[in-house]
Order: sequence, then C-alpha cells, then structure tokens
Amino acid sequence: MTVYDYRCPAHGDFEQRFPMGEAPAAARCGTCGGKASRVYGPTAVLSHDPLATKLLALQQSSAESPSVVTRSRTAAGRRAPTQDPRWRQLPRP
Ligand SMILES: [Zn+2]
Repeated sequence: MTVYDYRCPAHGDFEQRFPMGEAPAAARCGTCGGKASRVYGPTAVLSHDPLATKLLALQQSSAESPSVVTRSRTAAGRRAPTQDPRWRQLPRP
C-alpha cells in the first residue's frame, strides 16, 4: 500500500492508502464526504526519510506563513563588523 495525498476544498489535505499505481484521481473526504482531488508532490516519495520529511514540512509551512524578520542581526545603530577596507569607502546615510 502507498500513501497518496488528496485535498478537499473545504477541509484541506488528507492521506489515503491505495495499492501502488491504483490511486484514483479523486477520493471522498473523510469529514464531509465531498470530492477531494489528488495532490501530486515529492512528500510521498521521500516519506521514508525522516529528515527529508521534516525539511519538506518546514518548507511547506514557511510557504504558507513565512516568519517575518523585524530587525537585523546587528544591534540597531551599530555598524556591521567587517575587515574589508573597501567598506570605509561606501557612502554613509
Ligand atoms: Zn471535506
């Protein structure tokens, strides 16, 4: 049996198991019984590797709601430390 992903327009993604190569293009949503379309992606192929699964989950979550950077890594008002002498030739604000 292989895990296939489906997406219900009302309830989101869910998984169902079918014999390899016999997954239908649509399945019934377990919540509403409506038609859910099959979703194609690398998740099912890489699901045996825990690290790959974790990275894919992280990638998908950041695509939906990326974390926002509110400040730079250096403290406010402090110049970034550099050893490159060309840095001093740059215009200042
Ligand atoms: Zn549904």
